[in-house]
Amino acid sequence: MKSISGNCLCGSIQFKIFDKCRYSVLCHCTMCQKSNAEFSNYTKVQKDNFKFLSKKNLKWFYSSKNFKRGFCSKCGSSLFFQSQHSNTEIAVSTGSLNSTVPVKGHIYYKDKKSNLRFSGNHKKFQQSSKGLFDKYIFKIK
Ligand SMILES: [Zn+2]
Repeated sequence: MKSISGNCLCGSIQFKIFDKCRYSVLCHCTMCQKSNAEFSNYTKVQKDNFKFLSKKNLKWFYSSKNFKRGFCSKCGSSLFFQSQHSNTEIAVSTGSLNSTVPVKGHIYYKDKKSNLRFSGNHKKFQQSSKGLFDKYIFKIK
């Protein structure tokens, strides 16, 4: 089965995505700005397609009532985003991956901080996409 590996900066946390994941989505929300960078880039993976090889130093920060963010407490890498209510899927920061997952669009575009101009062929949601990106599945080659 085809896979993409990922890890934090220091290597304490290592994982693999198998077979498929959602196309990635750039998030410009103000919380991602603080946690990641001026924008974040996440793919989403079903738990059946995700496996930790090591989760040493993995910590979770409850950034809002419904969502938590996973990070490495040794090197500080911001890696995961997950609903506190659903344990069936996990969002993974594409910067941690050792291969590219293509971008499908933007969310929280109204909060965009960067002055980068993004080409018009990606979908742009001013706030949440409300799951509308979930149907765009990337088959890992
Ligand atoms: Zn680390």
